[in-house]
Amino acid sequence: MKIIMAAAECVPFAKTGGLADVIGALPKELAKNDHDVTVFLPKYSLIAEEFVQQFSLLEEITVSFAGEQKTCSIHQFRNENVRYFFLENQEYFGRSQIYGEADDGERFGFFNNAVLTAIKKLELNADVIHVHDWHTAVIPLLLKEDSRFKNMGEGLKSVLTIHNLQFQGAFPKSVFTTGFELEESQFDDSAIEWNGNYNMLKTGILYADKVTTVSPAYRDEILTSQYGEGLEKVLRKREEDLVGILNGLDTKFYNPATDLAIEMEFDHSSIEEKAVNKRKAQSLMGLPVKGNIPLTVMISRLAGQKGIDILEETLPELLQSKDMQFILLGSGEEKFEDFFRQLAKKFPDKVAAHIGFDEDLAHQLYAGADIFLMPSHFEPCGLSQLISMRYGTVPVANKTGGLKDTVIEYDRITQTGNGFLSDFTRNSLFTEALKRALRLYQESEHWEAIKKNGMDADYSWKQSAKAYEELYQEMVSNLTAK
Ligand code: ADP
Repeated sequence: MKIIMAAAECVPFAKTGGLADVIGALPKELAKNDHDVTVFLPKYSLIAEEFVQQFSLLEEITVSFAGEQKTCSIHQFRNENVRYFFLENQEYFGRSQIYGEADDGERFGFFNNAVLTAIKKLELNADVIHVHDWHTAVIPLLLKEDSRFKNMGEGLKSVLTIHNLQFQGAFPKSVFTTGFELEESQFDDSAIEWNGNYNMLKTGILYADKVTTVSPAYRDEILTSQYGEGLEKVLRKREEDLVGILNGLDTKFYNPATDLAIEMEFDHSSIEEKAVNKRKAQSLMGLPVKGNIPLTVMISRLAGQKGIDILEETLPELLQSKDMQFILLGSGEEKFEDFFRQLAKKFPDKVAAHIGFDEDLAHQLYAGADIFLMPSHFEPCGLSQLISMRYGTVPVANKTGGLKDTVIEYDRITQTGNGFLSDFTRNSLFTEALKRALRLYQESEHWEAIKKNGMDADYSWKQSAKAYEELYQEMVSNLTAK
């Protein structure tokens, strides 16, 4: 099949979270299975020069957007049989951050338009276009309703993957009504309206041929008002076309046996080398270098979703009473950053916080930690628990979404399971789960077993890519096409 992906993030070019990991890995896995895969990304000015130097200018096109003809250069890059097209427009992507600009709606509105204009100009004739999150979710609407792209839409099936329902891209109507060449009568205005704005994700949910999300458990959760973020009724309308496919991991990028970012590589048979990485993590973060103290770590966006409020309640007391260390790597909401800074001040021998985004440090911490904390209130899939397990680090997590699908409570009798779960109906239950982990840490036979169970599992993209492949195939065969 000929598959096109369009997204706002992709490892190793631009990343704020798990979306980038998925776009970095899934296309390569599909290409391995002999599919022809092209990935469209914005050419942000923050992409490292080492990559930009390898791009080659393919074509200059003009994109009609918001009543103007805007220039857009298409830069090509190839890696592991995947073709990447970076779309350059200085006005929209010559910024120092991926999101968070006042005109994000217009920036990504332009990107949606530019992707389809480029596909048409380059005559890519693909079978499937797979878009991700709100940033590219208008493409399915444009394919069905915009006169410029409508004839392409007939042979090109669209899939929207929701990586996080909380971010919906709701922007003033002008992004739609003046941005695209759509008459109000051409699309269901009332359907995509959202509290006076237009909602890009809702648009994708209604217009894509198939909608997927990144774990089976999250798929079921988002149909309820507790997790639906206000879109549960819209999602229920698409229930038959809504599929949960668990993310995999880029097992080449996250491989403790070959990872150059860590102090000492290790695998299943040399798991004791984790101790070297633990010492390195402790010394990098300025903590006492001690082998026999459990080192807990959290690496995360600091957002409400991630359950920092639960740690605010549980950590100070645990740190007071238990022999343990805690390292935080993350950035985000100021109040959470402050909490961790204060915690490090209060417990200088036990806590260290690095506020910021640092890929290499993240790898070192995954490799050096004993326990990884994920007290998320909701988690569409979660990659951090998978990375942890691959590096022999035991996750303690809330039982929600992808965490529910991947973390299995350790059973002392059968020595099965890979972590500890809390059902988070009360914050104290997370404390209990963490205490269970700290207790097991003291019992070396069990601790070895739980680490190995985590490391032995198959988190590769193989299964997930196969599931996407079957979904594409089903659409292409017109079995369920609308
Ligand atoms: P989300 O996509 O909601 O942020 P995931 O668990 O799916 O959460 O993915 C998070 C990814 O981002 C992981 O690869 C994690 O290691 C990485 N990450 C998060 N915060 C940081 C940080 N401050 N520095 C380096 N990597 C980070």
